[in-house]
Amino acid sequence: MSFDYDVVVIGGGGAGLSAACHAAQQGASVMLLEADKALGGATALSSGVVYAAGTSVQRSAGIQDSPDAMYQYMMSLNQWSIRPALARIMAESGASIIDWLLELGNDFPPELIVESGVGGCPRGHQCVGAGAVSFNR
Ligand SMILES: Cc1cc2nc3c(=O)[nH]c(=O)nc-3n(C[C@H](O)[C@H](O)[C@H](O)COP(=O)(O)OP(=O)(O)OC[C@H]3O[C@@H](n4cnc5c(N)ncnc54)[C@H](O)[C@@H]3O)c2cc1C
Repeated sequence: MSFDYDVVVIGGGGAGLSAACHAAQQGASVMLLEADKALGGATALSSGVVYAAGTSVQRSAGIQDSPDAMYQYMMSLNQWSIRPALARIMAESGASIIDWLLELGNDFPPELIVESGVGGCPRGHQCVGAGAVSFNR
């Protein structure tokens, strides 16, 4: 058995599994280490709502939105106290993250998009089966 891996990921929740999956899709050999008896962490307990703007699911629901509008919303809401570059990455990555999760077999019905904030544009993409769905397959 080999103990050499291109990538070693610590923690098998949503973040760790996403990193491991991406690395494996790029051809890397990956080891994922999870301290608990099962994968999932807080992700498996979550409601599975993904906050994203300018997505294909929003377009299907007839919702007009953009990453820039989401960025401005997050920065205004937090009175510019959060790191602008990270907020920008989050706002601009949402559409591709939703498409990637759809490709992996997750279901985000357009009719389940909710506001998921203090008002403004509906951006909360509710995953059918909530956060546990990927760990129950
Ligand atoms: C009830 C609830 C509802 C929520 N609903 C939403 C929602 O709808 N939308 C949303 O965006 N967010 C929601 N959240 C927040 C969201 O679930 C978390 O922000 C997210 O799951 C964090 O993901 P993660 O991969 O960083 O951590 P986790 O999913 O917690 O994964 C971390 C993993 O690392 C493992 N680990 C820790 N230390 C070690 C170690 N030393 N070695 C090996 N493994 C280790 C843990 O056992 C765990 O499995 C919710 C949270 C809760 C609790």
